[in-house]
Amino acid sequence: MDQRTGVGLVGTGFMGKCHALAFQAVRATFPDTLRVRLRRLVDVDPAVTEAFARAFDFERWSTRFEDLIEDPDVLIVAITTPNFLHQEMALAAMAVGKHVYCEKPLALDAAGARTMAEAAERAGVKTLVGYNYLRSPAVGLAREVIRSGGIGDVIHFRGAHFEDFLADPAAPRTWRLTRATAGGGALGDMGSHVVSLARHLVGGIEEVMGATQTVIAERPDPREPGRRLPVDVDDQAQALLRFENGASGTLETSWLAQGRKMGLTFEITGTRGAILFDQERMNEIRLFQGGGPRRLHGFKTILMGPDHPHYACFCPAPGHGLGFNDLKTIEVKALLDGIRDGTPIDPDFRAGLEIAQVIEAIQLSAAEGRWVRPDAL
Ligand code: NAD
Repeated sequence: MDQRTGVGLVGTGFMGKCHALAFQAVRATFPDTLRVRLRRLVDVDPAVTEAFARAFDFERWSTRFEDLIEDPDVLIVAITTPNFLHQEMALAAMAVGKHVYCEKPLALDAAGARTMAEAAERAGVKTLVGYNYLRSPAVGLAREVIRSGGIGDVIHFRGAHFEDFLADPAAPRTWRLTRATAGGGALGDMGSHVVSLARHLVGGIEEVMGATQTVIAERPDPREPGRRLPVDVDDQAQALLRFENGASGTLETSWLAQGRKMGLTFEITGTRGAILFDQERMNEIRLFQGGGPRRLHGFKTILMGPDHPHYACFCPAPGHGLGFNDLKTIEVKALLDGIRDGTPIDPDFRAGLEIAQVIEAIQLSAAEGRWVRPDAL
């Protein structure tokens, strides 16, 4: 009997390809984890789905999501569809006892995320949300340094995620640009990565004060470019954060940030040092640790290498660097290890709910002009 864990993937877009690459790479990269078998692929366009299935050696493909649910050989369902489909697909998979690996943001809003988290806990299945930047060796090192007291007590977090992929007003109104299909704008799409990093590195967020703006209020209809459609989500957002441990912070995000391609950054200040990270330079962190003669004070750049989390599984030589897709391979390993060992996986749907609560608190704060506690939502 084939002992490999059957994987079903839905979606063949940007994230669908990342998931498929990661499931293929994981065994060779991390030989001690579960073996997987790409059992089934689903997407809406038959020609695209067939070509993708052939490229990645999926055993079967179809355009019916139910085929994944009904297949007894599919143990893990990986969901890479637009946000509005995550909830119904995940609930259907968990109802028949399948583990679910779902792209972020988990749902359209906190209520949807709560339904998913509670269903996962009732079903007793493993879940994982695709906040892949948490898997970066550089972020792992930053966490180790902070946890071991290497910058003293954390007093401030400054996180941003800036890209420019929607800076052109002629970019069509795709699913990311309506509340009904995306849940939110840049804040939910990109700001949620900042929230995931803030929680991972600093801790829980107790209260937020936010502002959001829709700068480009209409965009061309993708099917009829002469026609313009309204945009009802934010293009950019800002928030003040108060952490449970007393630290304060800021979050900024925009998909109109001219020139920024993958500007996911953080600067964490402690009582004795600071750490800087920029995903555009994902293979390094900059670390300042006080002490010694003041004239020698300054940030040092640490290039990632085999001494840092997961790096050696990809490459024995320091400074050569990992790429974005490698983060997904590390993420898939976390999922498979959690399934094999029955141990908690972070971020699971409960953590995805907590991130959704922070995003919704910022949206509510922006609408009502007051501080909002995420745990009240
Ligand atoms: P995309 O538009 O490139 O791909 C979406 C895919 O879903 C398409 O192939 C589409 O045909 C398919 N699809 C749509 N409706 C479907 C249905 N009913 N049944 C089956 N397939 C269907 O989008 P994307 O950029 O890959 O984003 C998908 C998800 O991944 C979103 O939730 C997004 O927020 C998330 N995402 C995460 C990251 C990350 O860094 N983790 C990056 C980009 C996107």
